[in-house]
Formats: sequence, structure tokens, C-alpha cells
Amino acid sequence: MPYDDNNVFAKILRGEIPSKKVHESEHALAFHDIRPAKPVHVLVIPKGKYVDFTDFTARASAAEQTGFYKAVAAAAKAAGVVDAGYRLIANTGMNGGQEVPHFHIHILGGGSVGPMVARG
Ligand code: 5GP
Repeated sequence: MPYDDNNVFAKILRGEIPSKKVHESEHALAFHDIRPAKPVHVLVIPKGKYVDFTDFTARASAAEQTGFYKAVAAAAKAAGVVDAGYRLIANTGMNGGQEVPHFHIHILGGGSVGPMVARG
């Protein structure tokens, strides 16, 4: 799937839609999810144009990939979930339930996140 410049996270990166920033670095932006599923629900996105995890890991440079994952760690720290623990989720593609076609990782915490996924 080609990258869609009009996806909502592309608009956030361009400053066309506001977001509540948690952390920012050269390669990534972290901000609060607009519909939090848990008390802490932060999204971390690379600044480059990557559709999903598969695309990001295939095409992003080593510096972008390292920078991105360091930003995920920094965002978790900034969100205050490191000591008690948290969950990272990267919904990918149709079966993964991905809604926004710009690669992102969810950070969930602030309380027990519950079972990993519904079985079945
Ligand atoms: P996905 O299902 O693609 O993994 O997750 C997309 C996430 O983006 C959802 O949790 C949804 O609440 C969040 N989201 C959608 N639109 C916006 C927006 O305009 N601003 C923010 N901050 N989050 C959004």
C-alpha cells in the first residue's frame, strides 16, 4: 500500500492537527491518543513516511530505526509508566486492526492493561 499523505498522523506531523506532545526527537514524535483505552495511552510515530511496521523495518535507515525505538523508551519514561510496567502494541495491516496507515506504537499503562488479547 503506498503511503497516504492525508492520513491523520501525517497531518499531526505537519502541524495541521493539534496533538498533546509527550516527547519529540529528530526521528519521532510521541503524543497522547485522542481516545485513550487505558489511563496512559501514548502513540509514538516516526517522522518519516512509513505505512506500518513491515514498511518501517524494511525501508527506514538504521539511524531512523534506532532513533524511533529510543523515542518509544523516552516516551514511556516521560509518561511515567516505566516503574509499574506497560504494554507496547503495533497493530499492523488489515488483520492487525490498524486504522491509521502511518506506523505507530501504542504505549498503554497507568494501571493493569489486562489480558494480552482476546483468545479465539
Ligand atoms: P490503530 O488502530 O491504527 O493502531 O490506532 C490508531 C489510534 O489513533 C487509535 O487509538 C485512535 O484513537 C488514534 N487517533 C485517531 N485519530 C487521532 C487524532 O486525530 N489524534 C490523536 N491524538 N489520536 C488519534
